[in-house]
Amino acid sequence: MHLKIAVLAGDYIGPEVMDAALPVLETVLKRAGHTLEHSAHPVGGAGIDAAGKALPDATLDAARAADAILFGSVGGPKWEHLPPAEQPERAALLPLRKHFKLFANLRPGFLPAALAGASPIRAERIPAGIDMVCVRELTGGLYFGKKGTTTPAGGDTEAFDTMVYRKSEIERVTDVAVAAARSRGKRLLSVDKANVLECSVLWRRVVSERVAATAPDITLSHMYVDAAAMQLVRDPASFDVLLTENMFGDILSDEMAVVCGSLGMLSSASLGADKNRHGFPFGLYEPAGGSAPDIAGKNLANPSAQLLSAALMLRHSFGLNAEADVLAGAVNATVAAGIRTADIAFGAPAVGTREFAAEVLRRLG
Ligand code: NAD
Repeated sequence: MHLKIAVLAGDYIGPEVMDAALPVLETVLKRAGHTLEHSAHPVGGAGIDAAGKALPDATLDAARAADAILFGSVGGPKWEHLPPAEQPERAALLPLRKHFKLFANLRPGFLPAALAGASPIRAERIPAGIDMVCVRELTGGLYFGKKGTTTPAGGDTEAFDTMVYRKSEIERVTDVAVAAARSRGKRLLSVDKANVLECSVLWRRVVSERVAATAPDITLSHMYVDAAAMQLVRDPASFDVLLTENMFGDILSDEMAVVCGSLGMLSSASLGADKNRHGFPFGLYEPAGGSAPDIAGKNLANPSAQLLSAALMLRHSFGLNAEADVLAGAVNATVAAGIRTADIAFGAPAVGTREFAAEVLRRLG
């Protein structure tokens, strides 16, 4: 297969972790007989510096011509004086999400057993680590419904937001979650608030019908969001794939990230409604963390999140599950061998970004 990707490294640690990750990705693909065509384009603060806006036209054109986007991270103090609408994160990521109709956000909650100490959860509760995926609907629900502030009679002030979901929106994100569950333990947990919210009643019915009709091999269960929030702390290892709507996913995926310890290990994928040339969903793949200006330029950043984002890209935008496993497996093996960047070293000797990536590369053979 020929993979054509747009590389949007962004700002601060973005280019550092991207430079570390690309040779590993290239090696995995080359060994499996694939070819990788990648081109780098400025985005975020780098886009503002190079072309006067966070998402330059040429960058968007390059992304459009690609099968997937491998994204670093954007933003930082250099551009904080700009008006909010021109800030790198808002002016680059939001238009990209909108342009490519990125409706499903996948965030693996991943903590290898060797790093159990990084979690705020007691290590004896997660002896095998944590390995789950949160699938969040990204373009519907409360954040996008009708909203406003009014002044009712009597001089009071009232604000409202509206949660709206359509059957078709629930079905397509269910399909993404089913695919994720199928590539893992085949267990899917749908989280809602069907005892209170009408949208959740529809959500539960549509998810149930869709799974029954299209995925009899998947074991589906349901949980209320308050119970899920507690269960994530009580027994995070019990989760496999968690599917939920936009606002619940926003909150639960952050809770999951904290439970998993270091941001440097957490990847993410945003999948679009359109298919790429290979018939797989176009997607944007990026670390869950930000541009970490505090450690930028010091060879301190953990490249694992970028590497694992590349693995997600292989899986979801190219259907290369075996290659994705090889890449993620090499990252895990490196961590399991005790090789640590500073964020996961807890005072023990640490290696730099480049040295960590070299160790991952070495484990590919
Ligand atoms: P951050 O995620 O950049 O950093 C939070 C902490 O995590 C820092 O101590 C940082 O050093 C650490 N960290 C993050 N990634 C790491 C890695 N790979 N290895 C080791 N340590 C890592 O969050 P922040 O400091 O709140 O934000 C910094 C900038 O990033 C801001 O401008 C923010 O807007 C932007 N941001 C961008 C994205 C994105 O591009 N998607 C996401 C979040 C924040």
